[in-house]
Amino acid sequence: MSKQHLVLIGGGHAHLLTLTNIRTLVDKGYRVTVIQPSQYHYYSGMGPGMLGGTYTAKQIRFQTRKMVEQQGGRFILDRVTAIAPEKGSVTLKLTGERVPYDVLSCNAGSYVPSNGITGNNSNIFTVKPIELLLAARERIIALSEHGTIRVAVIGGGPSSVEVAGNVWRLGYDHCEYQPEMTLIAGSQLLGRLNPKISNLARNSLQKRGIRIVEGKRITEINKQEIRFTSGETMQADIIFSAIGVRPSRIFTNSGLPTGPDGGLLVNRFLQSTGFENIFGGGDCISFAPEPLAKVGVYAVRQNPILMHNLTACLTGEPLQEFDPHGSNYLQIYNLGDNTGIFCKGSFVFSGRMAFLLKDYIDRRFMRTFQQSIS
Ligand SMILES: Cc1cc2nc3c(=O)[nH]c(=O)nc-3n(C[C@H](O)[C@H](O)[C@H](O)COP(=O)(O)OP(=O)(O)OC[C@H]3O[C@@H](n4cnc5c(N)ncnc54)[C@H](O)[C@@H]3O)c2cc1C
Repeated sequence: MSKQHLVLIGGGHAHLLTLTNIRTLVDKGYRVTVIQPSQYHYYSGMGPGMLGGTYTAKQIRFQTRKMVEQQGGRFILDRVTAIAPEKGSVTLKLTGERVPYDVLSCNAGSYVPSNGITGNNSNIFTVKPIELLLAARERIIALSEHGTIRVAVIGGGPSSVEVAGNVWRLGYDHCEYQPEMTLIAGSQLLGRLNPKISNLARNSLQKRGIRIVEGKRITEINKQEIRFTSGETMQADIIFSAIGVRPSRIFTNSGLPTGPDGGLLVNRFLQSTGFENIFGGGDCISFAPEPLAKVGVYAVRQNPILMHNLTACLTGEPLQEFDPHGSNYLQIYNLGDNTGIFCKGSFVFSGRMAFLLKDYIDRRFMRTFQQSIS
C-alpha cells in the first residue's frame, strides 16, 4: 500500500509545530511535502526591527527547507497556484507539476493588494512578504548616500507605524542624511484601536519629525507621485505600502469555498467547509464561526490544533476544535527608538520596558523553532 501523503502549502507561522514534528510523521510511515517559494520563512514580528537594523535577516528567519529535509520530508521550492480538490492535487507555478495529496494544509499567508499602483517603480515596497523590508533597507541606505531622500509610508495600521518608526531608526544609525518622512494614515492613525495607543504612536513619531497625514485618501501612486482624492499630489523617493492584507488568492483561483475576503473557509476544526481532507491556518483562512483579525497571534495559537487535526485526519482519529477566545492577546509595537507600545485588552503603556519585553518574547520564539534544526 502506498504511504499516505501530507502536503503543506507554505511553512508559515501556523505550520511551525507541524514542521518541527515531520520526523514523527515520517517515522509513522507518512510522506510529508512542504511547498514554499522561499527556502526561509521570515517572522513578521521582527520584520520592522530588521528594517531598522536591530536584527539581522538571519536572526528573524526559519530555515524551512533544512527543517523539512533534515527530518526526512520533501521540500519543493515553488509556489502553489491552484488546488484541485476532486483530484486531490496542487499545481506548481514554475514547473506546472501536479503534486498529489491525501491530506492538505494551507498556510500561504496574505499579500498587500497593489490597488492604485501604476507604472513601474522599484522604489515601492509592500510590507509583505517580509523579505521586501530587507530590500527596502538596502535601497534606503544606498539612496541616502547622495542626500536627503523622501520616504512615504502609506497605511494607518500598526505595521505602518512600526515601519515608519524603524525607517527613522535606519536613517539615524546608518544613513549619511536622515530621510524626510511622511506617514499617510488614511482617515486616522490607528483609528480602529484604543485612542490611547493611537496618541502614544502619534506622539512618538511626531517627536522624531515624522509628518503624519490624516483625513486624506490616496487614489493613485505612479512612480514617485502620490495622488490624493482631493487632486493634491506629493513626491516620494521610497514608498511603503501598508494598506492592509488580503488572503492568498489560491482558494478563489481554485473554486474552493471561501469567506467574504477570499480566504479558505474553514470550520471550528480549521477544516475546509467543502473538503474534509483540506485544512488551513493563519492569514489565508476565513474562520467560519467568526471573523479573526489578521494577526500572527492567531496563526501561532492554531499550531497545536492544526498539528493534531492533520495527524488525526491521516489516522482517522477525532478532530479538535480551535477556540479563538483564549485570554486577550498581547501586541507590542516596535517604535524603532528602543521603545514600544504594550497593549493587552485595555491595558496600554509605552516605553523601553515594552520594547525589551517584545524583544525577549520574539527572540525566545525564534530560538524555540530555530533550535529544532542543527
Ligand atoms: C510589518 C508587519 C509586522 C507585523 N507584526 C506583527 C506582530 O508583531 N504581531 C502579530 O501578531 N502580527 C504581526 N503582523 C501580522 C502577521 O504578519 C500575520 O498575521 C502573520 O504573518 C500571518 O502568518 P501566516 O503564517 O498566516 O502568513 P505568512 O507569515 O505570510 O506566511 C505564509 C508563508 O506561505 C508562503 N507562501 C505564500 N504564498 C504561497 C504559495 N502560493 N505557495 C506556497 N507557499 C506560499 C510564504 O512564502 C510564507 O512563508 C505583522 C505584519 C506585518 C506586515
